Amino acid sequence: MNIYLDNAATTRVSSDVLKEMLPYFSENYANPSAIYSFAAENQKAVENARQQIAALIGADAKEIYFTAGGSESDNWALKAVAEAYSEKGKHIITSKIEHHAVLHTCEYLEKMGFEVTYLDVDEFGKVSPETLEKAMRPDTILVSIMTANNEIGTIEPIAELGKIAHEHGALFHTDAVQSFGHIRMNVDEINIDMLSASGHKLNGPKGVGILYIRKGVKIRSFIHGGAQERGRRAGTLNVPGIVGMGKAAELAQKTMQTRIEYETKLRNYLIERVLSEIPYSRLNGDKNERLPNNANFCFRFVEGESMLIMLDKCGIYASSGSACTSGSLDPSHVLLAIGLEHEIAHGSLRLTLSEETTKEEIDYTVDELKKIVKRLREMSPLYEDFTAKKKGA
Ligand SMILES: *Cc1c(COP(=O)(O)O)cnc(C)c1O
Repeated sequence: MNIYLDNAATTRVSSDVLKEMLPYFSENYANPSAIYSFAAENQKAVENARQQIAALIGADAKEIYFTAGGSESDNWALKAVAEAYSEKGKHIITSKIEHHAVLHTCEYLEKMGFEVTYLDVDEFGKVSPETLEKAMRPDTILVSIMTANNEIGTIEPIAELGKIAHEHGALFHTDAVQSFGHIRMNVDEINIDMLSASGHKLNGPKGVGILYIRKGVKIRSFIHGGAQERGRRAGTLNVPGIVGMGKAAELAQKTMQTRIEYETKLRNYLIERVLSEIPYSRLNGDKNERLPNNANFCFRFVEGESMLIMLDKCGIYASSGSACTSGSLDPSHVLLAIGLEHEIAHGSLRLTLSEETTKEEIDYTVDELKKIVKRLREMSPLYEDFTAKKKGA
């Protein structure tokens, strides 16, 4: 049995999306920028995808720019706005729990002479509007806060945060890679000037994304070259990828409500079973204001990586919030930002569902997880100390 519970890392390309993409690899291979009629169909397909994506967030198709993924969109939004508005000011505000595509770009901008404020979050991972209000300065040009966190699933109060940025004359960017197509979003209602999204987090292909740029926002081009994307993002368009992301957006819009209901119910069942059946476990993130498919736990006296390896042996694919996989032994910056101690943050496990996840899979996962946590604790000297102390007390 193979159980894929890592849908926050990437998702399966749905068969309808793949079917839509295939002709653009073979029959319709023309460069959409070409003049001849053979290219016209590809131009049309690209513009159709732009419409499908714009419709999902209430934007105008002209405000959608195709990129090579969420990381590029984040880099573009931050670097190019910083450059375009540097005469107005050099102060940028973000949060401590952003994806590294935002955090590492901010660190780069600091080296280039910009000043960045990294806002604290509360114990559930929320950025409070008051905290942002206090951090705003006359020279603040940009605020970038993610719509929902990729590790703990917390949904941020984006509409209020965007409003504050605007009241102070700053632009508002949001990394919506985790929420795009998963929860309802409208760029006008939530005061957004720029929004990053990625195809592969909503059953579309990898290597394609978008940056929404509100009409009127000054932004420098990021990839210099040809005149594609109105001269703002050069490079031959990734037609199959774009067509796939468009179809994925269309499907996401159509099925969103049923998917949200299904995933939320199954996710809550998972959380309830884990918290009630595994001692010394906790849920990370906000209980209600969280992505429908996200569950993130910490188990005391257990190492996240050991859990992952043992789950893998049972055919269960999950993730630990920690950055250990990238060769560092530091626990997740998100879990530290919500106030967890290193020791506890190390024992984290993220399970992210899809609309295809079944109750049987969740039951099997919890049954195996119980055994795994028990086994790992039996090997843990910390747990031994802890139980000995408890008995002594
Ligand atoms: C996955 C992810 C990214 C990166 O997107 P890619 O398309 O993989 O480059 C950025 N931000 C968040 C919140 C993500 O979850």
